[in-house]
Amino acid sequence: MSSPAYQPDNIFAKILRGEMPCYKVFEDDVALAFMDIMPRGEGHTLVIPKTPARGLLDMPADALGPYMQRVQTVAAAAKAAMKADGLTIQQFNETAGGQVVFHLHFHILPRWDGVALKPPGTMGDKAALEANAARIRAAL
Ligand code: 5GP
Repeated sequence: MSSPAYQPDNIFAKILRGEMPCYKVFEDDVALAFMDIMPRGEGHTLVIPKTPARGLLDMPADALGPYMQRVQTVAAAAKAAMKADGLTIQQFNETAGGQVVFHLHFHILPRWDGVALKPPGTMGDKAALEANAARIRAAL
């Protein structure tokens, strides 16, 4: 079954257009990275492409490489900045796949030995989100 069309009223498209605020980590002509507002762990960061793709499967193949370079760059900065032992990187497609916001994004989750992810759905502390964004920006 093919995916529904991209909808430009999704929350990440609004963040890209500057219509909604975010705790910004990185931006260039290819991608924007910002803190997940409901972090499942310290330093939980999202990296989205500027290309309007709904998920991985409708992202133009020639845009994927440059975007994944930004995902890797931000992941390395998040791991270093947060002094993490490892990283979990997640990407969901369609409701059945766990996707909630229908603009392609990768989750970057710094991980520490023995520390579980928090359940989804709890708003992060604003001061912590801002502080973690600043730490990751400084590591880029
Ligand atoms: P997914 O679509 O990959 O399942 O999850 C979407 C993610 O976006 C969730 O982790 C959620 O916390 C995050 N999110 C939802 N709305 C906003 C928002 O307005 N701002 C930010 N920064 N993150 C959001």
